[in-house]
Amino acid sequence: MRKKILAANWKMNLAQTEAESYLESFLPEMRAVNDVEVVIIPPFTAIATLTAFSEKLQSVRIGAQNMHWEKSGAYTGEISATMLRALYVKYVILGHSERRTLFGETDEIVNRKIKAALDAGLRPIFCIGETLRERDAGQVEQVLERQIRAGLNGVGKKDFTEVIVAYEPVWAIGTGRTATPEQAEEAHLFVRSILAKLADQPTADRIRIQYGGSVKPENAEELMRQKNIDGALVGGASLDPRSFAEIIRSAEAALV
Ligand code: PEP
Repeated sequence: MRKKILAANWKMNLAQTEAESYLESFLPEMRAVNDVEVVIIPPFTAIATLTAFSEKLQSVRIGAQNMHWEKSGAYTGEISATMLRALYVKYVILGHSERRTLFGETDEIVNRKIKAALDAGLRPIFCIGETLRERDAGQVEQVLERQIRAGLNGVGKKDFTEVIVAYEPVWAIGTGRTATPEQAEEAHLFVRSILAKLADQPTADRIRIQYGGSVKPENAEELMRQKNIDGALVGGASLDPRSFAEIIRSAEAALV
C-alpha cells in the first residue's frame, strides 16, 4: 500500500512572516490527519521558519524547491543538499517544468541533481510532463519515457523507492485546466510501466507517483481515487492554508 503524499509548492510566494501565519492556521487542521503524508515546500527564505516550528509540525515534512548538485563551492546564488539537510528538509522538487523552461534545466542537469539529492539523503520529487504541443502531436509517452530514463540514469535500483515521481502535464500547471482523472491515470500507469522496466515490477509498485496541475478542493478527491495516483503536488491552491487542508482531507476521503 502506497501512502499518499500531498505536497504544497509555494513557488516564489509567502515570505517568512506570511509563512508563520500560514502555519498558525494550517497546523491545527492537520491534527486529525494520519493516513496521508503532507509536505510543505516554501521558498528557501522560509525554510528556517518551518524548521523553527518543527515540534508543532508533527507529521508535516519540509521540502525545498531546488538545489545545486555540488556539495559546496563557488556557485554564487546556489544551495546544496547538505545545507537543506541541516534545516531538516526531507524532500526536494527537481525537474519542475518552470525550472526546465524558464531556467534552462536539461534532463542531464535534473539527473545530476537527483543523484546528488539521493547521495545526501534527500528524497527527490522528480517532475515530468508533456507540453500541450507534445500531447497534441501524440508524443506523451515518448516525452515521459525520455524524461524518466534520463532523470534516473545511473540511479541504483535500491534508491528508486526514495524517489517520488510527479506527473505534471505542463498545460495543466497554473492554467486552471486539469487533466481528467482518466487522462492522469493513463499517464501514471504508463509511468509505472517504465519504472518497472528500469527496476522491476515490485519496485515500481512501491514508487509513489503524484499528479500535479491545477489540483484544487473541487477536483482533488476524484483524482486521488485513481489507482495509480498516489498524491498531489499542489501549486496555486496550496497558498491558502484552508484550501490545501481541504485537498488533504479529500485525499483521506479517497482512501475509503
Ligand atoms: C506546480 O507548480 O507544481 C503546480 C502543480 O501548480 P498549480 O497547482 O498551480 O497548477
